[in-house]
Amino acid sequence: MQVLKFGGSSVANAVNIQKVISIVLQAGKQDSTIVVVSALGGITDTLLDCGAKAANGDEGYKEVLQKIETRHLETVKSLIPVTQQSSILSLVKKTCNELEDVCTGVFLLGELSSRTKDKIVSFGELLSSQIIAHAFQQHTFCTWKDSRELIVTDDNFGSAKVDFEETNNRVHKFFNSKDSLSKLFVTPGFISSNKHGAGTTLGRGGSDYTAAIFAAALSADALQIWTDVSGMMTADPRLVANAKNIPHISYQEAMELSHFGAKVIYPPTIQPVMTKQIPTWVKNTFAPDDFGTLIETAPLENGSLIRGISSMNNIALLSLEGSGMIGIPGFSKRLFEALSNEKINVILITQSSSEHSISVALNTFDADKAKEAVDRQFDYEIKLRVLEPVTVEKDLAIVAVVGDHMRSHPGISGKMFGTLGRNGVSVRAIAQGSSERNISAVIAAKDVRKAINVLHEDFFETTYKQINLFIAGTGNVGGKLLAQLQQQADFLQEHLRVQLKVAGLATSKKMLVRSEGIDLGNWQELLSEGEKSNLQQFVDQIKNNNLRNSIFVDITANETVATVYDQLLQSSVSVVACNKIACSSRYQNYKKLKDLAREYNVSFLFETNVGAGLPVIGTLNDLRRSGDTIKKIEAVLSGTLNFVFNNYDGSRPFAEVVKQAQDEGYTEPDPRLDLSGTDVMRKIMILARESGEKIEMEDISNDVFLPASCMDGDVPAFYEELKKHEAHFKKLYDDAAAKKCKLKFVAKFENGKASVGLQHINEQHDLYHLYGKDNIVLFYTNRYPSQPLIVKGAGAGAEVTASGVFADILRAV
Ligand code: ADP
Ligand code: ASP
Ligand code: MG
Repeated sequence: MQVLKFGGSSVANAVNIQKVISIVLQAGKQDSTIVVVSALGGITDTLLDCGAKAANGDEGYKEVLQKIETRHLETVKSLIPVTQQSSILSLVKKTCNELEDVCTGVFLLGELSSRTKDKIVSFGELLSSQIIAHAFQQHTFCTWKDSRELIVTDDNFGSAKVDFEETNNRVHKFFNSKDSLSKLFVTPGFISSNKHGAGTTLGRGGSDYTAAIFAAALSADALQIWTDVSGMMTADPRLVANAKNIPHISYQEAMELSHFGAKVIYPPTIQPVMTKQIPTWVKNTFAPDDFGTLIETAPLENGSLIRGISSMNNIALLSLEGSGMIGIPGFSKRLFEALSNEKINVILITQSSSEHSISVALNTFDADKAKEAVDRQFDYEIKLRVLEPVTVEKDLAIVAVVGDHMRSHPGISGKMFGTLGRNGVSVRAIAQGSSERNISAVIAAKDVRKAINVLHEDFFETTYKQINLFIAGTGNVGGKLLAQLQQQADFLQEHLRVQLKVAGLATSKKMLVRSEGIDLGNWQELLSEGEKSNLQQFVDQIKNNNLRNSIFVDITANETVATVYDQLLQSSVSVVACNKIACSSRYQNYKKLKDLAREYNVSFLFETNVGAGLPVIGTLNDLRRSGDTIKKIEAVLSGTLNFVFNNYDGSRPFAEVVKQAQDEGYTEPDPRLDLSGTDVMRKIMILARESGEKIEMEDISNDVFLPASCMDGDVPAFYEELKKHEAHFKKLYDDAAAKKCKLKFVAKFENGKASVGLQHINEQHDLYHLYGKDNIVLFYTNRYPSQPLIVKGAGAGAEVTASGVFADILRAV
């Protein structure tokens, strides 16, 4: 004897029902088989909608009825040969007429009791099971049996409790009777009746339970739950794209997972089959050859310490607090009594060891009723102020990790809460059953998707970690970065197990946010079709999307963009800035951002602020972290100025050389930031700050060589002005050349003082041999007292800057 249950999507239409028939005919060759079916997919909801409309006096219920009837008639017509249709068509029509009578009654009375609701939804399974039985009869001998005559319950309409003794008697008597010739039975799931014969239901999703009740009563060889996924998975596949099949699972694990939201099995289903140790399969009607999941007594270990992760929405947390509870027995009894008198189901309980507070998680639906009942229960203590009035928080959810083997492995909860914390998911309450099979955390509902995904990644996806990038600025450097990301994607996945996804792009004109990732082969076109850019909206979308491992990458030189870092860091989003404005703003602001990053456990990185892709800040940080002290920094930090003075010898106008530097992409958008020395001041200030100095721009002396009049007007005006001063620049060059020196714009930091300015550098100096747009930084430290540690190389250019940003992204990962 075996019991096969087919869910709503498995029997949603004639095509699917054909698949069901072939599965049953194959499975049932030797054995007698009970087939339990749900209503056609979606019909239970449609029936509830119909009942609600009728009760509200909305004539629209008639239209809904019509749709229900049509759908069933259509299914019959495409499932059963024309010559065999008439009896089942008239049965469907007759049944639908009965349904209409009930609904008309509801409409006239304007009232829908839970008993009537059960009556209405029962039509779904009645119709589907009779149609399917007829379809089987085209192939083999088959008996339809109304499960309301077999499963006996109490009067809890909506989710009735089963009277197992009576039910088992009836099930035995019917299926084991000698006069039944049939080897194949089809019966409706979900529906039952009370002792007086009134129809009840076993709760939403209850067809699974029906099948388990039959399987247990008959000590079946196997129960098979056929659905639309290939078994139970490590997480809800609608929430976690990388959810994996669980081939073997214990009854207890399956029970925990289903109770905590893995809706693939209706929670009460496991209990009866576990008692009888009936092997239970979850299989996919649409991929019957897939292994699926076997629920059994002692499943194999799976290599992971946990078996699955699940979540439950619509949770409220009710808390009772007050000094009056400490050391006094009876408070929890009274609390739970008050809840149980109102038939309120408690999902999770925590009490702090100070006994100062008890919190219970409930369905939000029950929250107000619960608060009222508990306030009433403790009215006296609240008036005396030994207890606070009960508080209720809504919009919460529970995530749970489940596995039998957690017991023998320490560190699971550490891993779980570490992962949640790193991703900015704050935990409101925690419970771990003493079986150590389940650790549950109450979190904000908005964090569920992220929480489940990061947990899944940490526990199951040793394969890779997903990083979500939000990039502001797609100019020279941004464009190169996107190309590098695309080019390296496979390498990173293979060698670093990192999957980088660009989830957002913004320029000053357009923005585009796609949580599934933007196709980097085609980003220009996609972005041009994006929405009008709005920085705050972009930031809000990053926060609301709440994707795991999010990194904001600022490749603009924009002041406003630099003002959103604090919001992002506080939402646990790392910030990688190529933009120097934040780090060269007031010290207070720089410090605040670094502190926020530490507080929220994310990264704030800006390597490219100094020396483009060169490892300058990284080297400095490594020196300091390993205990070295920076004594002096001497550096040429402007690729632009180095390029200009290396290429200028008076043979071409100075203005022309500057223009060439701009055209080749080395300068800031406004080249005066470079020529005035301001950009170098910012850089040496950042290095001084990273060396531990509280320093501001006005503390840095700047020996300016650019005539003041060049600073007026816009960039074209600046070039005009520059031409007028050719003689000035020629003289600067000639003076140096006369001493066999080169002109270098040098930045220095020593004894807490920073300065920048043009200097004559002779051939013996470390700074002399510096070509093109190169930068050089000399670190004199305790460990490098006389011969400095030198970092040297291209200090400007889109390709190298992009690679520096890329390196920061990987560091943040
Ligand atoms: P049926 O109508 O066959 O009873 P259900 O919709 O009740 O099917 O259950 C199957 C669905 O459960 C799947 O389509 C899947 O989206 C969802 N689900 C939620 N959590 C899990 C999980 N951990 N493993 C597998 N499926 C899950
Ligand atoms: N049709 C019922 C429901 O949707 C029972 C089931 O499908 O399991 O809740
Ligand atoms: Mg189901």
